[in-house]
Amino acid sequence: MSINVILAGPRGRMGSQAINMLLENKDAFTLTVCIDRKHDGVELKDIDGMPDLAVPVYEDPEACFRENEADVFIDLTVPDSGYRNTKAAILHNIRPVVGTTGFTDDQIKDLTFLCEEKKLGAIIAPNFAIGAVLMMKFSKMAAAYFPDVDIIEKHHDQKLDAPSGTAVKTAELMKETRTSKKQGHVNEQEVLEGARGADVDGMKIHSVRMPGLVAHQEVIFGGKGQTLTIKHDSINRDSFMEGIKVSVKQVMELEKLVYGLENIL
Ligand code: NAP
Repeated sequence: MSINVILAGPRGRMGSQAINMLLENKDAFTLTVCIDRKHDGVELKDIDGMPDLAVPVYEDPEACFRENEADVFIDLTVPDSGYRNTKAAILHNIRPVVGTTGFTDDQIKDLTFLCEEKKLGAIIAPNFAIGAVLMMKFSKMAAAYFPDVDIIEKHHDQKLDAPSGTAVKTAELMKETRTSKKQGHVNEQEVLEGARGADVDGMKIHSVRMPGLVAHQEVIFGGKGQTLTIKHDSINRDSFMEGIKVSVKQVMELEKLVYGLENIL
């Protein structure tokens, strides 16, 4: 049976790639409706650069979810609209698969609670690349042995949130195994504010934003006489599509919100 999907952000780089993935897997998925902030009332084929599909487009997520039944809602937009869309989807019993990054802890808690109440599946993953999930897992393992660790995450310069959701998630995972420690010299002084990066339990996160980049992260560990670097590069947005594909299938089996692709693989 085909899974009916509503997608928000069809003109975005991730959204358009996700539409291609859905079309390449026609046996498994049907794109039924799109949510786009600029093209209310048209069909996808009427929008420049979009595939030749008679898929209706809504600007208002509420109206979209009220008037259309679907199994899964994919959000690939920006944090504010992503949160609003996701909440509305849950309230209409449509399972969200969210790639949009930058949700606050409180927003994730709120969505988790709503899903629990409704026994509805949802997946929010700050990184859908399988390699990035492995990078996080390996980092969690290494942090048990190396409490001194810096994360350097590098993304394209159109990214709205910093640090990246992946960097925060990596730090959270490492917190589970790492012995808490304030790094650097005890008398260290930041001569220029921000020079040492953001602080998570003594770990440092540095965010680089550059045109030409996609999504890259290095986790650098240091110990006596050695360093260890775990590195992942998403060279293009294809790297995220397998994770979205797996998630759209898996979310149908869930009865709660799962945060992080590593928890469903
Ligand atoms: P993008 O190319 O800038 O696309 C963003 C889309 O959201 C566009 O269609 C844009 O429409 C729309 N949008 C912007 N502001 C909006 C608003 N206020 N309300 C509704 N829609 C709005 O970005 P992208 O690279 O596709 O990334 C999309 C999201 O996915 C971001 O949050 C990014 O961090 C995240 N991401 C996640 C992963 C992962 O693996 N989870 C990987 C890469 C990226 P306009 O053209 O009208 O602005």
